[in-house]
Amino acid sequence: MTDRPKLPLVPEPPQHPMDAESFRRHGHRVIDWIADYWQRVDSYPVLSQVEPGAIRQRLPQRAPEQGESFEAILADVEEILMPGITHWQSPNFFAFFPSNSSPPSVLGDLLSSGLGIQGMLWATSPAATELETHIMDWLVEAMGLPSSFLSTESGGGVIQDTASSATLCSLLAAREQATDFEVNRRGGEAAAKLVAYTSTQAHSSIEKAVKIAGLGSENLRAVAVDQDFAIDPEDLERQIVADREAGLQPFWLCATLGTTSSSAMDPLPPLAEICQRHGLWFHVDAAMAGTAALCPEFQPLHQGLEEADSYCFNPHKWMLTNFDCTAFWVRDRGALIRTLTILPEYLKNEASEAGTVFDYRDWHIPLGRRFRSLKLWFVIRSYGLEGLRRMIRYHVALSQQFRAWVLDHPDFEISAPTPLNLVCFRHRGGDDINRALVERLNASGSLYLSHTVLGGDYVLRMSIGQARTEASHVEAAWQQIVETAAALASRNESSNR
Ligand code: PLP
Repeated sequence: MTDRPKLPLVPEPPQHPMDAESFRRHGHRVIDWIADYWQRVDSYPVLSQVEPGAIRQRLPQRAPEQGESFEAILADVEEILMPGITHWQSPNFFAFFPSNSSPPSVLGDLLSSGLGIQGMLWATSPAATELETHIMDWLVEAMGLPSSFLSTESGGGVIQDTASSATLCSLLAAREQATDFEVNRRGGEAAAKLVAYTSTQAHSSIEKAVKIAGLGSENLRAVAVDQDFAIDPEDLERQIVADREAGLQPFWLCATLGTTSSSAMDPLPPLAEICQRHGLWFHVDAAMAGTAALCPEFQPLHQGLEEADSYCFNPHKWMLTNFDCTAFWVRDRGALIRTLTILPEYLKNEASEAGTVFDYRDWHIPLGRRFRSLKLWFVIRSYGLEGLRRMIRYHVALSQQFRAWVLDHPDFEISAPTPLNLVCFRHRGGDDINRALVERLNASGSLYLSHTVLGGDYVLRMSIGQARTEASHVEAAWQQIVETAAALASRNESSNR
């Protein structure tokens, strides 16, 4: 008998801290914890009140060598982390734009984590790709979007992490189309003459995309806006003509439906006409406002979108789908795919090569992708379109009510139109009192709102879109705003005396 060859010494297999039974037990506890949290979320100060560094100070210097009990970990969530949480799910959250979560969405996300698939190719989980394509087509119909965005036509939709990424993808596809895919081949030189356009009110992610795409932020033109903070098509036309005359190549416009500062709506029809005439790719960013189009009465906001080359909105803002989830459509998927596709040997498979499937890795920046459509599917199926419309209409009605209170009050004024659910307003007493008002309100912990500057004025933004917000919360907020402003004004008066 010959000796068996000696195998390298194989250690004991790794131990996993949770088996199926303890995962089940702890999992139930976490679900209970979340349900309790949602029930008591309005008892926390909305804006975290901790000082910088306070959370890190309470964390151990080094990672633990030995695994710890789940009880200990969960206790630290409560003890150490909760003071450093700003409660975006509080009904008294009126800052920025909402970042809503909802029970079906959380469960969909949990299921996605449990399945743990990576849907880079159709073949790596056909259900993930096909569900995503299907839901994106559902939304085209439900929101009255142009039929050219349908996957069954020339376009198609894809879920991206954020609007920032969607905008970047639109910009890259436009860049390649404008340079006959030269930048992809030869690098930046081919892009030297490209110029992009957006309004002075566009989100900062537009400039960031231009920087990342290597175009240079000096080649992004800030187009003037009108008195309602919507882009001025005449200024756009003027700037495009001047750039052409200077030998430059205008190639991309980003219009916004619902600007971040004031929810201004850029007029799509004249912008579409300008883009067509001058051969620009027309992208529309409706990150916050897009959700409103689930209601037929708000679909006219999208008038002119038929001519858009790409469009995005964020279900992770107003549509009850927890972060992150951006819906992005293109009219010509060929341009996007050609821009982003890359096929190494190790990803080749029969379905991709037959060209009969979508491989979503070609539709966005990363290779890997989560099963994000699952949470969106859970939300749409649980609420139904009618349930979602009800929430949208409720928030818009609350916002219009709030606007009416501001208009009725002698000490306050409205600072911008309120087409949907963002009310921009200010105290008539000047910037200092408005600044102090925001600080004092947020420090109280009972609500959280943010500010912007419009036409040179410091302005408060009351963004009413949190899933749990009801009339009583908006009433209490208005009462607190009025009382706090009155206290600040009388303090100013007595110190001036
Ligand atoms: N566009 C607009 C109009 C926004 O209001 C925002 C964020 O509030 C964004 C883009 C960026 O969104 P995201 O965080 O999904 O990149």
